[in-house]
Amino acid sequence: MAVYIIFFGPPGSGKGTQASRVAADLAIPQISTGDLLRSHVSQGTALGKVAKPIMESGALVPDDLVTAMLRERLAQKDASGGALFDGYPRTVPQAAALDGILAERGGKVGAVLFIDVPDAPIVDRLVKRAALEGRADDTPETIRERLRVYREKTAPLADRYQAAGVLRTIDGFRSIDAVAADVRAAVEAARKGAR
Ligand code: ADP
Repeated sequence: MAVYIIFFGPPGSGKGTQASRVAADLAIPQISTGDLLRSHVSQGTALGKVAKPIMESGALVPDDLVTAMLRERLAQKDASGGALFDGYPRTVPQAAALDGILAERGGKVGAVLFIDVPDAPIVDRLVKRAALEGRADDTPETIRERLRVYREKTAPLADRYQAAGVLRTIDGFRSIDAVAADVRAAVEAARKGAR
């Protein structure tokens, strides 16, 4: 059975790093809506043109655009055995849309790994990443805005997934390896549940 796992947490929590490790272990794709959007921006597609200024401001790209992009990505062959979602869903309507898309495929969200990190270290990490990667949305103002948007729009999803019994909270303020060990255990438990 296909396994669908969401990596959830504030920007800079390390969810992308953890998701890419698990993706390599399980040989299922990591689907990062942030990466997909950045590639639209760099290719100058119609979606990229809409998304660019929104991303640079730290706001969220409209739900319908992100959901259409996600649906298209999931339809690709490499996602037939499941997917790891990194940075998606980010709003209640996106979560509802994802439930619908997965139901059409005969699947459901198997686990939501909440990588929990306090605000202070996050700002530190993102400022360092800005220096390393030169991402246009890693300025101090947009970092603050992205955290604010996360608290307002994304953090409430924890309640939804808690109620569904799939939320696993992992202390993300530790070494990458220590976090990865807990992530692996949670993924293993979710896969057993899916069988
Ligand atoms: P981070 O996790 O560090 O915030 P991402 O690469 O996930 O970075 O996202 C960067 C930006 O891309 C977001 O600030 C937002 O503008 C846009 N974005 C990414 N995923 C979504 C999504 N699911 N819904 C709306 N906007 C998104």
